[in-house]
Amino acid sequence: MVKATSKADLYRKLPAVDDLVHSPRLASLVLDDGLPAATDAARAALSRLRTEISEGRLDSAGVDLALSGIVDAVERHARQMLSHSLRSVINATGVILHTNLGRAPLGASAVEHMGEVSTTFSNLEFDIASGERGKRDEHVDRLFRKLLNESLSPDENRSGKISTIVVNNNAAAVLLVLNTLAEGGEVLVSRGELVEIGGSFRIPDVMLKSQAVLREVGTTKRTRLSDYESALNEKTRLLLRVHRSNFQITGFTERPRVEDLAELARQRNIPLFEDLGSGVLVDLQSFGVSGEPSVLDSLRAGVDLVSYSGDKLLGGPQAGILSGRSDLIARMRTNSLFRALRVDKLTYAGLEATLLAYVKRNYAAVPVLRMMSLSKAEIAARAQAVAQTVQSSQLSLQMQDGESLIGGGAAPSATLPTRLLAISHRNLSANELAARLRGSDPPIVARVEESRVLIDLRTVGPEQDESVAHALQLLGGGRLEE
Ligand SMILES: *Cc1c(COP(=O)(O)O)cnc(C)c1O
Repeated sequence: MVKATSKADLYRKLPAVDDLVHSPRLASLVLDDGLPAATDAARAALSRLRTEISEGRLDSAGVDLALSGIVDAVERHARQMLSHSLRSVINATGVILHTNLGRAPLGASAVEHMGEVSTTFSNLEFDIASGERGKRDEHVDRLFRKLLNESLSPDENRSGKISTIVVNNNAAAVLLVLNTLAEGGEVLVSRGELVEIGGSFRIPDVMLKSQAVLREVGTTKRTRLSDYESALNEKTRLLLRVHRSNFQITGFTERPRVEDLAELARQRNIPLFEDLGSGVLVDLQSFGVSGEPSVLDSLRAGVDLVSYSGDKLLGGPQAGILSGRSDLIARMRTNSLFRALRVDKLTYAGLEATLLAYVKRNYAAVPVLRMMSLSKAEIAARAQAVAQTVQSSQLSLQMQDGESLIGGGAAPSATLPTRLLAISHRNLSANELAARLRGSDPPIVARVEESRVLIDLRTVGPEQDESVAHALQLLGGGRLEE
């Protein structure tokens, strides 16, 4: 019988933390990440060994084996502890606005401007000319005025000047409007527009929090102007219209034209507010997308106030934007909720640079617009090039027609024709293959459909094509052609 080594003997085999961290093979870790972090990692690796000894899972030979790999273990701990949790992924789903994948990627000029004004002090709330206090919203309001006011004819711009303010997200914008204009009163909304976005934004819940009372009119399929008319009473403060951004009601449906609702609102002297969801500032028709109302369409139709997200079709940072009648916007500004929902200089900087691209009509500088504008032929050529790089007997790569989605609470039916790479693996199911792709560095997120993995390069940056080809090559077990 082999004499069992006592646990005390086993513990004695372990090096001291200080000795371990100063071992020559950890010198580069100490140099890169600093002594405190390297010490933490060494302590974690040793503590793991101590636990295994105390639980009786290691004998003398086991401890020796573990110690031979202790340096690697320390490095592993350091990597786990010090790497970012939030990381870049390749979106190969073809869904342009994917809420789980961070919605709109920012353009280079937005990121550059954010870096520039956030690493130094800035004139966020400072008027450089007068040396006095300024307003943070001035930085983007001037651009919204240019993009919105100047496009409206004096006749369309009935309400006078259009002003814009920015809050944290569109949900916050809706809350601010309902609370400012309808606290203690009633808001009329069609039963066909009681939307829920991503499970956490539900019109009835936001209404409750705003202290306004929701008054549903019409039915889910049909709501007529007369339904609003008969529900109007002395407690009505606001007419609300919500863009059905993530669902469609098909069949015989009916709802009043925005113009008619606006006319009714004007007659009764009650503001009409539209929650647009996605903030479209260009004519999407030219991108092959129809039926998605733009901010200008709504203002032209006589809507008093519209709200929309900064990070949907507008293609900027997360924000909730409120554009509309200056007198109503002025009331939002004085609500203490506005202060609670305000955004940081980073958001203003990202938004300002994104809006400047619109002012210059440089739509290619806005990534979501650039992705929308790609033709099927351009995508097919890139997919072909990726397929040709991959040499593997394990993988089968085929090209097939398909559709990209706008997504993200914008135009639920809006799709764009695309060319997909359909991939299957000899020994892996489609779900397993998709999981391996997510395990790539950077992770690649693709669609799975009918036992194949589908890759849509519309949402992949052209500079990322190589990473996709590389990951596929590795998965296919083949060698890489340099
Ligand atoms: C997306 C969306 C919202 C929520 O916007 P966030 O910016 O995510 O807060 C609200 N209403 C509609 C109609 C939407 O499409």
